Amino acid sequence: MIDESCIFCKIANGQIPSATVYEDEKFRVILDMGPATKGHALILPKEHFKNVCDLNEAYGKEVLALAAKIGQGMMKGLGCDGFNLVQNNGKAAGQTVMHFHVHVIPRYADGPKNIAAWEPQTADGEELKHLAEQIKNAL
Ligand code: AMP
Ligand code: ZN
Repeated sequence: MIDESCIFCKIANGQIPSATVYEDEKFRVILDMGPATKGHALILPKEHFKNVCDLNEAYGKEVLALAAKIGQGMMKGLGCDGFNLVQNNGKAAGQTVMHFHVHVIPRYADGPKNIAAWEPQTADGEELKHLAEQIKNAL
């Protein structure tokens, strides 16, 4: 399904032009207009899914392999030294466009250094055990 009010549905389906890196039956991969580094790309499904929990099996099966393909293309084509896959779910997690997407972010040895960085907190063994139980019991 396509959501007529969703900008990523429009971009993915070619109704709004984009700098397209790759396209197939299910996905379009575009360059991010506010890139973290040079060549930052977004993998967009052509159907509307709000987030990873909403994604159906057919898309879920293919998306990671496509991310690997794009990342490898970046290493070869852009000469980057690595890449990050970032995927935000929910406003609190930094999701600003509510259409599932995967960021593929090229990383260069000479920077920029701190993208998607977090400040490590501390956690003792008891707390980790308790947190693990809380998640486990909700699965
Ligand atoms: P997120 O914060 O994970 O929802 O990521 C949304 C990303 O989409 C951001 O990195 C934006 O820079 C990018 N973005 C938003 N609108 C467009 C657009 N029209 N074309 C390309 N990138 C976009
Ligand atoms: Zn959409």
